[in-house]
Amino acid sequence: MINRAVVSLLPLVPRSLVWKISRRYIAGKSLEEALQCVKELNDQGMSATLDVLGEDSTSSEQALRGEEIYQRALAEIDRQSLDANISVKLSMLALRFDESLCLEILQRLIRTAEIHDSFVRIDMEDSSVTEKTLDIYRRLRKDTDKVGAVVQAYLRSTESDVQKLLDEGDTFLRLCKGIYVEPEEIAFNDFTEIQDAFLRNLELMLRGGIKKVGIATHDTRLVEGSLDLLQRLEIPKERYEFQMLLGVTEKLRSELVENGHPLRVYVPFGEEWYAYSSRRLRENPKIAGHVIRNMLPF
Ligand SMILES: Cc1cc2nc3c(=O)[nH]c(=O)nc-3n(C[C@H](O)[C@H](O)[C@H](O)COP(=O)(O)OP(=O)(O)OC[C@H]3O[C@@H](n4cnc5c(N)ncnc54)[C@H](O)[C@@H]3O)c2cc1C
Repeated sequence: MINRAVVSLLPLVPRSLVWKISRRYIAGKSLEEALQCVKELNDQGMSATLDVLGEDSTSSEQALRGEEIYQRALAEIDRQSLDANISVKLSMLALRFDESLCLEILQRLIRTAEIHDSFVRIDMEDSSVTEKTLDIYRRLRKDTDKVGAVVQAYLRSTESDVQKLLDEGDTFLRLCKGIYVEPEEIAFNDFTEIQDAFLRNLELMLRGGIKKVGIATHDTRLVEGSLDLLQRLEIPKERYEFQMLLGVTEKLRSELVENGHPLRVYVPFGEEWYAYSSRRLRENPKIAGHVIRNMLPF
């Protein structure tokens, strides 16, 4: 309830104050600021993935503008010899109104990623686009290993999706809990059930010969459970990486790096930070709770 109250009060908070609070979680408004952030993370032994903040596109022009920033990001990452790739949301790249344009944009981004020896991660959005997103991933990965998808542990369908993807061949998946509010019929809503599903899916992937998994969580129980699985199954470092959001659980992040585990930080940036952040908060008021807790000095 408190989280919802915070979200409903958001329009009354001055933008400059929201920006101050968001700065910890967002690298900046420009690509240059994001690249500087990546450089600092690289210097601390972490890789990164760049995410352009944006609303769902409603016109091809808007989607192509999104592509253009990502194209520049891939070129600059290479030019500055940074250790980073990109994460894209298909709804920003025309998925909801023109699937063939979306596929074309992705194919162009992947071509650029191939030229620069980089990688395109397709983020997973709400359940209305899960199947479409996985279908697009399947089509693309037939021809390249420079693309990866994301699966959400809270979806009841995820275990069978993962099994199918593994049966179809090597995969590059990120595993996360899932951030959108979904109904009980299709998603676990209970905290422990989601944690259990996360570890079951991770074990399925590791035993099923996944090429590389991104373990995206800040949840201590899940990090410990994952470390235990990695050790028991003797998984080499090339087959996994931990992934965390910029500004979140930095101590846990550093401990993993100090212990020699590969770790990638998700670095959001962009002019549309305000519209994007308020939409995400409205969609899932729990995020407000996380942010407030992280701001407290205890
Ligand atoms: C690299 C990465 C990529 C992701 N990609 C996707 C995606 O493609 N699709 C999708 O649906 N979800 C994605 N997520 C979000 C994910 O699904 C979870 O909603 C989110 O990570 C919170 O779950 P948790 O496992 O960290 O556990 P929680 O129990 O929710 O969090 C553990 C602790 O981490 C901190 N924390 C977690 N999230 C935040 C936050 N947003 N702000 C501040 N503090 C926080 C809090 O201190 C919290 O107590 C991604 C997450 C990461 C780390």
